[in-house]
Amino acid sequence: MCGIFGISDNKDSSKLTYVGLFTLQHRGQESAGMAIDSKNGIQYYNGMGLVSEVFSNDMFQSFRGSSAIGHVRYSTTGSSNVNNAQPLFFNSYLGQTAIAHNGNLTNADALRAKLQKQGAIFQTSTDSEVIIHLMAKYHGRTIEDTIADNLHKLEGAYSFLFLAPGKLIGARDPNGIRTLFLGKLGKSYILSSETCAIEVVGGKVVREVEPGEIVVIEKGKIKFKKFAKAKETARCVFEQVYFARPDSVFSGRTVQSARYDIGRLLAKEIKNVKADIVSGVPDSGTAYALGFSEESGLPYKTVFMRNRYTGRSFIQPDQKLREFTAHLKLAPIRDAIKGKTIILIDDSLVRGTTSKKIIGNLKKAGAKKIIMLIGSPPITNSCYYGIDTPTRKELIATKLKIEGIRKFINADALHYLSLENLIKACGYGKDKDFCTACFTGKYPTKVSKLQTKTVNDK
Ligand code: AMP
Repeated sequence: MCGIFGISDNKDSSKLTYVGLFTLQHRGQESAGMAIDSKNGIQYYNGMGLVSEVFSNDMFQSFRGSSAIGHVRYSTTGSSNVNNAQPLFFNSYLGQTAIAHNGNLTNADALRAKLQKQGAIFQTSTDSEVIIHLMAKYHGRTIEDTIADNLHKLEGAYSFLFLAPGKLIGARDPNGIRTLFLGKLGKSYILSSETCAIEVVGGKVVREVEPGEIVVIEKGKIKFKKFAKAKETARCVFEQVYFARPDSVFSGRTVQSARYDIGRLLAKEIKNVKADIVSGVPDSGTAYALGFSEESGLPYKTVFMRNRYTGRSFIQPDQKLREFTAHLKLAPIRDAIKGKTIILIDDSLVRGTTSKKIIGNLKKAGAKKIIMLIGSPPITNSCYYGIDTPTRKELIATKLKIEGIRKFINADALHYLSLENLIKACGYGKDKDFCTACFTGKYPTKVSKLQTKTVNDK
């Protein structure tokens, strides 16, 4: 998964994009980058690491443009190296263009093979580069026509930002699997993966970019165009389950509210279970636990001290350091735990390793019983759209039934939220059009055999 942010017509565009990317840091911590529309044309700067590590104070003295786009990356296709950091930049018949992509293209391997056969020389191993070669080869009169004509050839999930001299362009996949929001700050337009970044830079959220829509911002004016219509819209439900920031808004309500509702519905699903306290695995599990507490009347207690400085970057070069990881990230708070039957809530079980370690640590700290609740259904299918779920054979719910999983994680009881209640919580009873492929195996787009093989052979 990645985060993208762009802003038009603003003398502080690079600084505001820095703030936007900083706000979207939770969406990717491997690399960060920015492209600007400067007096000297499109310039870009990418690097490995966190936003604060890639960009320096001094840089913004000279790195200035009228518009900018930026990207934070968590790699799901292509390895984690600076060559794959975005925005990607290219110079073609259409002139200079930078692009930033969030999502995964499910026919990227097939398109890449075809383009390479025709002579294309790829510079990165990302799926995102495919659109560059398509645009260079099959170009129309303007960049926006070229984008609209080529997006049809892509399958899968994407939100794109394009920056060309005088133009900022955004596009969202026809099913709307990945997110993209439009905001306004004075005369500037903003495009962002999540609403939180629009608000943090001082902007107002206008609306979601619609599935299959292109937004073109030029000379302070905005134009909208539908380039495709899908049979169904299917926004990724995992955004609200785990990925998005709690203060971001989907369908008019914050992610935090959806997570509270998930907790409430879990409490309704397991009415007669006896416990002393309820707690959550930070961070997403905390909101679930608070919702559960409100509905059930069971007291909420914090049972973990979370180390905020580990991120994903805590080095694990050898077994000795690896041994510390789980405890270093989440250290049990003894008094809250000792002798207690604890309802513990996490958003999801993927391989089951996190829960196993956490439950082990709680029991070592004196917990009497752990009743594990999961705020989403069992994950039984790989995501081809950008959420980093592993191959099917690594997913614990494809190998074991609920009782087997309970034994593996060493919980005294285990319960998953029903799909029906998950949709209710995330759609607020109104929206039902979500991508739930990781739980159901029903993919909203075609997924080529080649792609399935690549992911499952990984
Ligand atoms: P696992 O240990 O493999 O069962 O992973 C479950 C844990 O990973 C849960 O605590 C989730 O909050 C977290 N998680 C779920 N999805 C992702 C993801 N795409 N990337 C990183 N962590 C995740």
